[in-house]
Amino acid sequence: TRHELVAYFQPQVSCVDSSVKGFEALMRWRHPILGLVSPAQFIPLAENNGQIVSMGSWMLKEACMQAIRWQEYQPPGAPLLRIAVNVSLRQFADVNLVRDVQVALESSGLHPQQLELEITEGTAMLDMQRTMDLLRQFKSMGLQLAIDDFGTGYSSLAYLKRFPLDVLKIDQSFIRQICSDKDDRAIAAAILSLAHSLQLKVIAEGVETEEQHTLLTEMGCDEIQGYLHGRPMPSDDLQVWMHEKYRHKAL
Ligand code: C2E
Ligand code: CA
Ligand code: CA
Repeated sequence: TRHELVAYFQPQVSCVDSSVKGFEALMRWRHPILGLVSPAQFIPLAENNGQIVSMGSWMLKEACMQAIRWQEYQPPGAPLLRIAVNVSLRQFADVNLVRDVQVALESSGLHPQQLELEITEGTAMLDMQRTMDLLRQFKSMGLQLAIDDFGTGYSSLAYLKRFPLDVLKIDQSFIRQICSDKDDRAIAAAILSLAHSLQLKVIAEGVETEEQHTLLTEMGCDEIQGYLHGRPMPSDDLQVWMHEKYRHKAL
């Protein structure tokens, strides 16, 4: 099934000027009969039977390799683009993860600073000492580190402070109704304030409307990711998207 996997990429843009800061790599399964299968359907299965480990190591390589092509579409002098890759619980517990990351970086030539690993709050908090060791190791290699789906699990704030993190991603369940639900807005504001006091950048996921973008910008959010700015797309489409985005800007 491995040759049926496809990497899609979704832009992450600056709240302030909508410039592209990076992309999240999202897995798709192109099934000969079922068509494009959503990761929500196959990742829990692959996590259970262990296949996620080899799928994840494929994804790391694929994402790094594709990401190397995109920098040239940036305006001159723009900062390096990031590529964020999801790391599942099982992968995080696997002894070969560090080696897989090294191989992906070396075989692609991607700068380590361009690679961001996303681990969910649940994964990070399961075995905090192990998380600390691994994150420190990744940090010493120069990677960026993000906590995904923040707010949906339980975080030890003591550890959150000590982990060498760069980014918190606000879960989309708090973004969906952020304009109409004051409780969601309060949670997002609390996450922003916590993250910023820990010097972490905040990315809001699932931003679909201009109103959400405006509100999050007013609230001090750093970056957003969502259908408003770009859907997940295959690498070739993304190249076209980058070209269009920056050609338009130059005119
Ligand atoms: P996630 O990491 O939280 O990824 C964000 C999900 O939100 C993606 O779903 C993305 O397509 C979707 N999304 C982005 N913007 C919007 C929006 O504006 N509105 C709405 N309604 N949805 C939006 P996707 O691609 O179906 O992936 C689902 C989950 O599967 C991911 O959630 C992640 O947990 C997992 N996953 C995907 N790819 C990988 C992978 O390569 N490795 C691992 N371990 N997990 C993956
Ligand atoms: Ca993610
Ligand atoms: Ca997420």
